[in-house]
Amino acid sequence: MRLAGFPRIRVANLPTPLEELRRFRQAIGGPRLFMKRDDNTGLALGGNKARKLEYLMADALEKQCDVVITTGGPQSNHARMVAALARQLGMEVILLLTGEEPKDWRGNLLLDHILGAQVIFAGTKDYDIVHPRMEAMAEELRRQGRRPYVIPVGGATPLGSLGYVQAILELMGQATDRGVNFDYIVSATGSGGTMSGMLVGARIFAPNLKVVGISVSRDRVSLTQRLCSISEAAASLLGVELKFPAEEIDVFDQYIGEAYGIPTPEGLEAIKLLAKTEGILLDPVYTGKAMAGYIDLVKKGYFPEKANLVFFHTGGAPALFAMEEYFR
Ligand SMILES: *Cc1c(COP(=O)(O)O)cnc(C)c1O
Repeated sequence: MRLAGFPRIRVANLPTPLEELRRFRQAIGGPRLFMKRDDNTGLALGGNKARKLEYLMADALEKQCDVVITTGGPQSNHARMVAALARQLGMEVILLLTGEEPKDWRGNLLLDHILGAQVIFAGTKDYDIVHPRMEAMAEELRRQGRRPYVIPVGGATPLGSLGYVQAILELMGQATDRGVNFDYIVSATGSGGTMSGMLVGARIFAPNLKVVGISVSRDRVSLTQRLCSISEAAASLLGVELKFPAEEIDVFDQYIGEAYGIPTPEGLEAIKLLAKTEGILLDPVYTGKAMAGYIDLVKKGYFPEKANLVFFHTGGAPALFAMEEYFR
């Protein structure tokens, strides 16, 4: 296993805090619950993408790239963090965002502009169109003598997911320090890079730790296929051959609501409940829905009462500032 052998730039604030949520647990019941504060990683307001970017941008530096191209929705946390890190490293950044340009610059989109990213709207939400278009832009830049580095949506590549293999190692160290044995991780899952890394990390460092993903966009079948293939490829980068059969991956897709990016009533309630009990801010697109899923699973008795759980707070709070109307 050669995790330590991969080029990595240490730009995230790690280890992130691990906090027990006592008041929140009193409100909802269920087993002992901790929160891994990956919303505190840094990179212009933080989030899970920081860990992936430690590996992806190290690769960009090694290739001596001078401009980074990536994509995401108009409220993409990933795009904002890529922009921040590219700037920190002295690179330019082009964000090819999905859909049409919103009339207001709010939340992450405002931050993208402040960071001086070149923001372009693709006019489509179809990544099968957006990804080739990023490649075409990169090709054009190469013809002009530039050295572009393209990062797919969410940084969900085997290399990027190594950030979450490392996160599991970090969590296990904290668990030992605290004298707790964790049985479950619960996390929002979107493009799948985060959960893939967790699956690989758990298999290698903590074989009894189960990873439960709450999908915010994809259906169970297509998400588990994706998780399988990213996890297996990440494992083979590390020089280990691991199998992740789709039927053994725990993913729930019933908390998405109408669509990706559209808040659900249960997600908004979960955001308000955590804020009122712990003073911690979740987000409406990812962690609010994941927490709503967690609360529902607790109600259904999915987790044994004696278990110890970690909810990964993967960030996203900047999107709150683009969602005022939902909280009125
Ligand atoms: C991107 C993101 C996720 C999901 O991570 P993936 O690796 O895309 O599955 C979860 N939470 C927040 C806040 C994110 O920005």
